[in-house]
Amino acid sequence: MNPVFADLPVTVFETMSRLGREHGAINLGQGFPDDPGPDDVREVAAKALRDGYNQYPPMMGLPSLRAAVAEHYGRHQGLELDPDTEVMVTSGATEALAGAIFALIEPGDEVVLFEPMYDAYLPLVRRAGGIPRFVTLKPPYFRLEDEALAAAFSDRTRLVILNNPLNPSATVFGEAALSLLAGYCERFDAVALCDEVWEHVIFDGARHVPLMALPGMRERTIKVGSAGKIFSLTGWKVGFVMAAPELMRVLARAHQFLTFTTPPNLQEAAAYGLGKNDAYFTGMRAGLARSRDRLATGLSGLGFTVLPSAATYFVSIDIGAADDVAFCERLVRENGVAAIPVSAFYETGRVKNLVRFCFAKTDATLDAALERLSRQASAA
Ligand code: PMP
Ligand code: GLN
Repeated sequence: MNPVFADLPVTVFETMSRLGREHGAINLGQGFPDDPGPDDVREVAAKALRDGYNQYPPMMGLPSLRAAVAEHYGRHQGLELDPDTEVMVTSGATEALAGAIFALIEPGDEVVLFEPMYDAYLPLVRRAGGIPRFVTLKPPYFRLEDEALAAAFSDRTRLVILNNPLNPSATVFGEAALSLLAGYCERFDAVALCDEVWEHVIFDGARHVPLMALPGMRERTIKVGSAGKIFSLTGWKVGFVMAAPELMRVLARAHQFLTFTTPPNLQEAAAYGLGKNDAYFTGMRAGLARSRDRLATGLSGLGFTVLPSAATYFVSIDIGAADDVAFCERLVRENGVAAIPVSAFYETGRVKNLVRFCFAKTDATLDAALERLSRQASAA
C-alpha cells in the first residue's frame, strides 16, 4: 500500500460524525447546514434529472454552467473570464484541488501550505511527491506575516495553496495580506492554488477579494469554487476551476483521468443558481450571520472564550490548557454534542487549544446544543 494513505487515520470529519451518531449527539462537527438548500435550485436539478440528458456531459463542463461561472464572477468579483478557455467544472472543489496538485507538482517541488489547513491538502501534496513547507498561522488573528513567508519560499517553490476565507479559523485575508503573498509568488515564480469555496459565506459587510485579481496574479492563480457552499448543498460536489488558458490546459489533462465529468443535472442546477439575484446571496449571509451570533452569544454566556468568526459556517472556542481532542471526545460522549478539534488542521502540532463548532443549523438545533453544553459547563 502507498504509505501516504496507509498511514493516515480516517478524516476527523468522518470520525466525529460517526461518534456523534453512536452517542445520539447533535452534530456541530462536520460542516453542513440543516437547511435543505434553495427549493428552486433543487427543482431545476430534479427536472433536469427527469426530463434532461443524463449521459456524459462535455469533459470541461456544460457550456451553460461555464458561461454562468464566467458571468457570476464578473458580476460578484469583477473578474473577466473566458468561459471557453478559462473555466472548467469538476466534481467538487476537492477534485479541482487534487487535479491541480497532480497536474502541477513534480517530485521534489516545494509547496507552501498555511496551517491550519483543510485536511485534503497535505496527503495530496505528499502523494504527488511535493515537499511541504509550512507557514503556521496563530490564533486569534491567523495573520500572514512577512517573516514566515520569507522562511517558507525558496527557489524550489512551485506551488502555494491558500484557503481564503480560511476554514477552520473563520478569518478572511484582505488586500494587504494578499498583496504580500502575491509579491512572493512573483518573486519565486510560483503558482497560487486558491481555494475560495467560502467566498460567499462572509459576514458583516466584508467583501471577498480573489487572489487572482491582484496585480501580477492573473496568469499564475488557479481559483477554485464550490456550488456546495454557495447553495448550502454540500453533498452535491460540483466545483469550478478558473485559470488562464495555459494553466487550464494542464488542469484539464488531470481532470480527464480523475473524474472526466460531473452529473449533468447538478451542473444545470448550479448554472441556474449562479444567476440568482443579489438578494439570495445577501439573504444567505444574513441568515448565517444570525446563526453565528446565536451560537457565539450562547457559548460566551456559558463562560467559553469565543473567537471572532468573519466567514464560513464555523466559530471556535479557546479551551485554554485543555487538549482539544480529549475535550471533543468528552463532549460527544458525555454531553451529546459533536465538535471538531482544530489541531486536526495543524501538522506541526503547535495549536491544541481550539474547538470548532458549525453554526449552519436551525435555532432549535443550536439552542438544544447550547442546553447540552450548559450541563457540561455547570458540571465542570
Ligand atoms: N476546501 C475547503 C476549505 C472546504 O472547507 C471544503 C469543504 N467544506 C472543501 C474544500 C471541499 O469542497 P467540495 O465539497 O466542493 O469538494
Ligand atoms: N469541509 C467540511 C468541514 O470543514 C467537511 C468536509 C468533509 O467532511 N470532508 O467541516
